[in-house]
Amino acid sequence: MTRIARYYREYGVRLVRGYMQYVWDDGGRRYLDCNTNHGVAFLGHSNPYIVEAVKKQVEEVWAVPLNFATPARERFVEAFSRLLPAKFGVVFLQNTGTEAVETAVKIAKKITRRHTIVAFTNSFHGRTMGSLSITWNEAYRKAFEPLYPHVRFGKFNVVSEVEKVVGEDTCCVVVEPIQGEGGVNPATPDFLKALRDEASRKGALLIFDEVQTGFGRTGAVWAFQKYGVEPDLFTAGKALGGGLPIGVVVAREDYGDVFEPGEHGSTFAGNAVVMAAAAAASELLLRDDVPSKAESAGRDLAKALSEHGSRLGLRVKGMGLMLGLELRVKADQFIQPLMARGVLALTAGMNVLRFLPPYMIAKEDVELVRSAVSDVLKNAGH
Ligand SMILES: *Cc1c(COP(=O)(O)O)cnc(C)c1O
Repeated sequence: MTRIARYYREYGVRLVRGYMQYVWDDGGRRYLDCNTNHGVAFLGHSNPYIVEAVKKQVEEVWAVPLNFATPARERFVEAFSRLLPAKFGVVFLQNTGTEAVETAVKIAKKITRRHTIVAFTNSFHGRTMGSLSITWNEAYRKAFEPLYPHVRFGKFNVVSEVEKVVGEDTCCVVVEPIQGEGGVNPATPDFLKALRDEASRKGALLIFDEVQTGFGRTGAVWAFQKYGVEPDLFTAGKALGGGLPIGVVVAREDYGDVFEPGEHGSTFAGNAVVMAAAAAASELLLRDDVPSKAESAGRDLAKALSEHGSRLGLRVKGMGLMLGLELRVKADQFIQPLMARGVLALTAGMNVLRFLPPYMIAKEDVELVRSAVSDVLKNAGH
């Protein structure tokens, strides 16, 4: 029988059901999901509000190319607009985060007619060739070189080097407001401000990659709103589809006609079922005040993560419900022990345990994380 190609570590657990912040395996065991498929299930698994919208859409129409109007897309645009600061009047529809990043870079290349992309140490922007070119981690890139050659990496959070790394050749500066895969590293406000100023001065576009930080997780709808620094373009994905695959680029209204018909496209982009899910997710975000719930649950979880009482733990990093516990040792050894205690988590970088739970995580869930984390660190025998 055909098998699935093996490029993920296998945990030996078979998940058969999900509801809100929990998933269940085929033996009926429940787990608190702080992995959420890298943040995708931020609004919960099978959130009833999203389920209802998807069910209804499945009965109506699924596949409608962007040449045609369709109600699910109209509902999405209307709901999503309410989540955007005034200056952002246009959205490009794609299917994944990496595709959104590549689309943002294409927009910047076309507008500026330049070709150098500036990115930063410990960045993660995706796995397809263009996004991979601006992803820092050697282990992800090495085997696939040569990649897009015109890339300069600056040092993340080093303000004094910003002037040097952004040049007259730069089409865009791409940065995560909080680095996710790279270690849950928040940018400093001064760094993002320096990038904003320097990009404007040199005529480059500033692109924030909000695929992981966006859609309420950090305590604001968009992480850049916490910083008070606005990009020219930003990307979103992961949580935005309420569980279904999506990626978008959000831009100033006048960038909406940058591509000639035929110059850009994607078969599945704007799929009606995905649009119905993303519309419901966007409505829910406002209706349930998701960002402020993420903010307050995030405060509780950060406190719980800091109370491990082990010398293996260094510090808690992140914002809202995008949190990392930095360790003195490699983090991946703790994923399965946490699972055995009913908590699914992720790593970030080498030494960070990462927690991306759904926004409805309750006090008893936070308590479970506290005891599971302190347990596994103690049992590590250091
Ligand atoms: C996950 C991620 C991506 C890639 O998204 P995919 O949907 O996996 O292609 C890009 N940028 C950031 C910041 C991410 O966290």
